[in-house]
Order: sequence, then C-alpha cells, then structure tokens
Amino acid sequence: MKITILGGGIGGLTTAIALKNAGIDCEVYEASEKFAPVGAGLSIALNAWKALEYLGIEKMVGAKGYRYSDAKILSQKGKVLQTLGMDELRKKYKSNAVTINRHDLHAILSAELGTIPMYFNKRCTHITQSKNKIQLHFSDGTIAITEYLIAADGIHSNIRKQLLPDSYERYSGQTCWRGICNTPIAGYDYSILSETWGLGKRFGIVPLSEKMIYWFAVNDSRKEEMHWGRKTNQELVDLFSEFHKPVGDIIRNTPMETIFWTNLTDLKPIKKFAFDTILLLGDAAHATTPNLGQGACMAIEDAAVLGSILKKEKYIPKVFTLFEKERIDRTTKIVTTSYRVGKIAQTANPILAGLRNFIFPLLPKSSNENFLAFLFGVKFN
Ligand SMILES: Cc1cc2nc3c(=O)[nH]c(=O)nc-3n(C[C@H](O)[C@H](O)[C@H](O)COP(=O)(O)OP(=O)(O)OC[C@H]3O[C@@H](n4cnc5c(N)ncnc54)[C@H](O)[C@@H]3O)c2cc1C
Repeated sequence: MKITILGGGIGGLTTAIALKNAGIDCEVYEASEKFAPVGAGLSIALNAWKALEYLGIEKMVGAKGYRYSDAKILSQKGKVLQTLGMDELRKKYKSNAVTINRHDLHAILSAELGTIPMYFNKRCTHITQSKNKIQLHFSDGTIAITEYLIAADGIHSNIRKQLLPDSYERYSGQTCWRGICNTPIAGYDYSILSETWGLGKRFGIVPLSEKMIYWFAVNDSRKEEMHWGRKTNQELVDLFSEFHKPVGDIIRNTPMETIFWTNLTDLKPIKKFAFDTILLLGDAAHATTPNLGQGACMAIEDAAVLGSILKKEKYIPKVFTLFEKERIDRTTKIVTTSYRVGKIAQTANPILAGLRNFIFPLLPKSSNENFLAFLFGVKFN
C-alpha cells in the first residue's frame, strides 16, 4: 500500500515524515523544479512545536530556529499596546516557540524524507478515478497511478477545486511585502517580535537571529488597486514613513531583490476534507490569512494528527474521515479568528484605531487566555 502526496510544501513534507514514522510507503510529487520555499521567515508557535516533537524533528528545527523572548503589539508611535511573555507561555504550555528562515525549515524537512521518492517538475492538472485507483495527470503529459492521495498542493489546490468546485479563495483587502534584513539595525532589541498597528497599515518585525530580521509590511488595498506589485525600498519607506523607528531603517537595509509581494487571501472554510481515498491537507484544506501566524503551524499539526490516527486505525479511508472529524472545527475557528484579527489590526478609521489603541492595553490578561489555551493547549497522542 502506498500513499501519494501532491505538493512538497511544509504540509506535504511533514505529512511524508508522519507516514514514514507510521511505516507507510509514500511518494511526493511537486510542481516546482527544485525546493523553493516562497517567502522569507516563519514563526513556529507553541502548538506547532508540539507537533514537531510528535514527528521527532523538533531538535533540528530548534537548532536552526531562534528563541525570542516577548511578542508585542505596538502603536504607530511605538507605544506598547500588548505584550505576550513568551517564556511564561513556553513554561505554561510546556512547549517552545521559535522563528526560522523558510529555507532552513525546508532543508530540514527534505533531509528528513530519507529514501522517500520526491518527483519535481510534476504539476498535476487534474485527477481521474477508476477501478479503485486514482490517476494523477501532469502537465508534462505523464500520469501517476495510486490508491490513496493526499492533496497538499496549497491554497490554489487543483484537486480541491475539482472535488469542491464551489470552494473559493477570499481576498482580505490587504496586500503584503515581506523581506529579510541581514544588516544589524542599531537600537533594535532582537529578543522582541513585534507587530505595529497603524491606520490601514501594519508592520511586523520578526527576529531570525541576533542580527537578522524577517519583516512584513501590510497595506489596505481595494480590489481595484491589486496592481500594487513590487516596490522599491524607498517607495516602501515612504509608505510606512509615519511608523516608529527603526521601521524605515529595516526596509532601507533590505536588498530589494529579496522583497516579495503577495496579496493576503484565505480559503473560505470548507466543510469536507476527506473524500474516501483522497484527503485535502494544509493550505489546500484550510488556508488562512497570516494574522495569527498559524498557516504552516496548522499544516504541521495536520501531519501530527494524521500520524496519531494511523497508530489506531489502518484502513485509510477511515483514517481520512477521522482526520476530517478531528481537524475541521479547529482549523475553521483559527481561519475565522485570523480573518477578524486582520480587520481589527488594520482598521483605517482613525476613531476606531484610537479606541483600539486605548482599549488594548487595558484589556485584562484573561480576555486572551481562553483563545491561547485553545490554540496552544493542543496535544498529540
Ligand atoms: C505573508 C505570509 C506570512 C506567513 N507567515 C506565517 C507564519 O509566521 N507562521 C505560519 O505558521 N504560517 C505563516 N504563513 C502561512 C504559510 O506560509 C502556509 O500556511 C504554509 O506554507 C502552507 O503550507 P502547505 O504545504 O499547505 O502549502 P504550500 O506552502 O503552498 O505548498 C504547496 C506545494 O504544492 C506545490 N503545488 C501547488 N500546486 C501543485 C500542483 N498542481 N501539482 C504539484 N504540486 C503543486 C507548490 O509548488 C508547493 O510546493 C504565512 C503566509 C503568508 C502569505
């Protein structure tokens, strides 16, 4: 018995590791010609760390990852609106949280594949099904035949569109640039991860080491303005000119060719992940806006959950159904909350933004705690 995985992103690779751990043969088909993680850095939250532990790869990720001490939300002027003490949370949830360069994470995951075959340059256009087999049709004219398929082919998943033609991606009304600044920035405290909320704008600073920063800059953008595209450093510095120091310095010191641009989208939550012998996983099943930094974390959780179900159940269509049962409510809640957080963080209305900045520091700690317990209190057995 063999399971075919479509997509060699974080979801596909961690799933391959989970299947390897469960002693199940698998193979990965990937559209790109080589490993090419899109984007810059990534934060691995406490819940995903537990999933990495379950998969047995947390030490490798920890060795390349960076432990920051606090996460802060700041106003445009740099006033602290809220602080999450990460060491406290690490202790409370008996886990870890790190930031990591996407290239490093991909390298770790691909090294862990061992002898699992990975085929590049294989873009699946569609599938057909006959005689209990699934045929994957690739754009190069070749076909692969398998009994079971896990589609981890990302937010634009062809497989999901074929199985659920009514599913659709939602544009969040926000557009985003991401980059890595490798030049040490004087006066910046590299132990702090921060997100600054302005008027219709946000800027995130994510330290990846004691001298490297991954940053993201988000701007409101109506559908008609979706031509934003790439910008020069100076254009971005100007766009965020009213933001506190050292936002401008960070953008200025980032090589322009390393700045990526993406519109922020998610997948309107779907009600089905399992289709007998086919399973949707990762962004293909539950792509989210990045406002909670949970997209890849959920994909890693998916792999751990699949691994834990395989310990108890061997019949794959049942495994896929149990997976759907276990994952759908949790991922839907995260996707929905993330979408709302994006709207609050990014309000362009000065009165609402003022109110938000006034109320946020006064909120009792307990108001967040239930959600954090839901997010980080997850267990994999
Ligand atoms: C701005 C931004 C910041 C983010 N920050 C974070 C963060 O801090 N923390 C976090 O947890 N998440 C974050 N995310 C989300 C995270 O990047 C994704 O959720 C995660 O990469 C999803 O992994 P995946 O493997 O499911 O999908 P993908 O990473 O999209 O991988 C899909 C793979 O399938 C391949 N593929 C696609 N179509 C086909 C096809 N037809 N045939 C064959 N192969 C195909 C692709 O080439 C790709 O390799 C962020 C996202 C954005 C946009």
